[in-house]
Amino acid sequence: MFENAGTTNLEQLGEFGLIDHLTKSVELTQETTDKGIGDDAAVLDFSGKKTLVSTDLLLEGIHFDLRYVPLKHLGYKAVQVNLSDIYAMNGMASQITFSIGLSSKFPLDAVEELYAGALLACRKYGVDLVGGDTSASAQGLVISVTSIGYAKETDVTYRNGAQEGDLICVSGDLGGAYVGLQLLEREKRIFLENPNIQPDLEGKDYIVERQLKPEARKDIVQLLASLDVKPTAMIDVSDGLASEVLHICRESEKGCRLYEEKIPIDPMTYDTAREFGLDPTVCALSGGEDYELLFTARQSDYEKLKSQPDISIIGHITEVSAGRELISKSGNVHPIKAQGWNAFG
Ligand code: ADP
Ligand code: MG
Repeated sequence: MFENAGTTNLEQLGEFGLIDHLTKSVELTQETTDKGIGDDAAVLDFSGKKTLVSTDLLLEGIHFDLRYVPLKHLGYKAVQVNLSDIYAMNGMASQITFSIGLSSKFPLDAVEELYAGALLACRKYGVDLVGGDTSASAQGLVISVTSIGYAKETDVTYRNGAQEGDLICVSGDLGGAYVGLQLLEREKRIFLENPNIQPDLEGKDYIVERQLKPEARKDIVQLLASLDVKPTAMIDVSDGLASEVLHICRESEKGCRLYEEKIPIDPMTYDTAREFGLDPTVCALSGGEDYELLFTARQSDYEKLKSQPDISIIGHITEVSAGRELISKSGNVHPIKAQGWNAFG
């Protein structure tokens, strides 16, 4: 690491010095990377496979709050959130670019932390960092990540492929990231009122991690391939189950039935939602940021999917005229809306 990092500022280092400093430990591992950082463009070769590209822009004050998000987590999450979009196409992510806008008062060790988180995510997911851009920012931290991946043409999974009778499946569990955010927001308020009170997040590791350190579901894409299950439609859960299932239904011109009792919710998410006076089902439907994969699959894949501990079958696709409905635990039928679930309790 850089010596005397605490005393060096960004202006002393300069743009090129900073880029060199941040990227000197970058290693390339993907055979699809011909050239990474150091020229005017990276060079990639997917030898006939389809190329997948997705990009995200993250702005301080809009997408993240540096008062409770540690920078290393922010770098990690920025990458994960973007990789998740590649996995949601049923592809493998292979490269990213990572661009940053920094105000001059931003300390070097803070940039290092941010970068360390991004590089950790790259290493863990076997993704090459092949470029980026570095600029001054007049106000606030700006991060932009672009992910690049690939898939065989026949494996690429769009939102529009769901067919009547298909199973609706989701990986992992839902609502945790939203409830974790409620917890962090509460501790931030308490801290701002009285800076002597330390945050009390004890015993809440799982949901705090769900918010601060999400994991994109590369493993689910690999699992489906190993089961020889080709999803008919897929999307990642960034805005909440309700919004995502409606995207699949709209794009596929179909309806759906979801069963509240089948929606996977972790016990800590459930109990903490209750502590906040929130309906755990509403948190799963409208909370967002879980970065799980929501997909549809043919009924003939039921036997393969039903015994997978990390996959829940939560409903099925219907014809469009049957509507898009949630069957509550008590058997009532509610139309699914992307928001406004508070009315539903
Ligand atoms: P250009 O003037 O063509 O934009 P730069 O001087 O900005 O080139 O970048 C030089 C090299 O460093 C390029 O390969 C670019 O992709 C890479 N680079 C710049 N900023 C970053 C960053 N934040 N992270 C990773 N690579 C970066
Ligand atoms: Mg540049």
